[in-house]
Amino acid sequence: MNITILTLFPEMFEGFQTNSIIKRALGKGVATIKVVNIRDYTKDKYGRTDTPPIGGGAGLIEKCQPIVDALRANKKESSHVVLLSPRGKTYDQKTAETYAKLDDLVLICGHYEGIDERVNAYVDELISIGDYVLTGGEIPAMGIADSVIRLLDGAITKESLTDESFNNGVLEYPQYTEPYDFEGQLVPDILYSGNHTAIEKWRRKQALLLTKKHRPDLFNKLTLSKQDLKLLKEAEEDQTPKWESDALEKGHKFIHKK
Ligand code: SAM
Repeated sequence: MNITILTLFPEMFEGFQTNSIIKRALGKGVATIKVVNIRDYTKDKYGRTDTPPIGGGAGLIEKCQPIVDALRANKKESSHVVLLSPRGKTYDQKTAETYAKLDDLVLICGHYEGIDERVNAYVDELISIGDYVLTGGEIPAMGIADSVIRLLDGAITKESLTDESFNNGVLEYPQYTEPYDFEGQLVPDILYSGNHTAIEKWRRKQALLLTKKHRPDLFNKLTLSKQDLKLLKEAEEDQTPKWESDALEKGHKFIHKK
């Protein structure tokens, strides 16, 4: 897929494209990013792209002409055009998944005090990354491009995406690394048991509990299976269930000695 970003600050995207997973994905041709400088399209003889608002008020507003001409010159018939705006629909993983199926996504970054209202007529959607105001749409555009590219085939392994937070409506289960004992905090023994079914069950239980605790809004939307209800009941009873104690007993030789 191709992502085109219209911005007054193209240099902000250099580090984004030249590091880590995004660099590798772009190098492998998983996606292409085209960063377009809106200023290159201004017809103002002094190169201006923004002026104070009509009617008075603080700051500078980006004018229609440079943005609309930059858009016309860089969008395709099939492009989905998004204007980053605090007024937009809040971006989430579902929207990232929808965008990852597109051929061509155009992200327009506003800056300064905002954009002439009439630009809205040229876009398909207004998107916000949350109820707070940033100085420009560049960071939201990076967030969106990053979240979309990592979902594309070849960017990261499929397994990395399977159990991730927000996939299937739950947060990810807790993860651990060596050492077993870090300043008195221990890795749960079950993870050393070698019993993959028990580990999966334990992780599902933790994912449900974390979601219930940290994101009750997501938890309340879940359709819980019989197994989920059983796992939650076990957690309420606060005792080690038989499947877990069996797995711990059978796998005891792999488990670190305290
Ligand atoms: N005056 C505007 C208002 O009160 O809604 C805020 C303009 S903001 C300083 C400048 C630009 O940053 C916006 O045009 C938009 O492109 C981008 N921006 C700021 N906060 C954003 C958010 N939460 N989500 C998406 N884009 C945002």
